Amino acid sequence: MDKKLLDILVCPVCKGDLIYRKDEQELICKADRLAYPIREDIPVMLESEARRLSLEEYDALQGKHSAGPAAHGDSV
Ligand SMILES: [Zn+2]
Repeated sequence: MDKKLLDILVCPVCKGDLIYRKDEQELICKADRLAYPIREDIPVMLESEARRLSLEEYDALQGKHSAGPAAHGDSV
């Protein structure tokens, strides 16, 4: 996806910045904990289409990596 496009895109709910997740092809609003899908390079900026982030995903975005044992399955 075009980086310039990402710069002008904001969350339709809170008008906040979005995080582009290339692997997931999603745009994430941390404030709302929503992930907007990108379909065929077109960001779908609709709250009704957005996915609610799990707490794990949200925590990962914060960069908070709790070092608790067996908190989540890391890929080997
Ligand atoms: Zn938002």
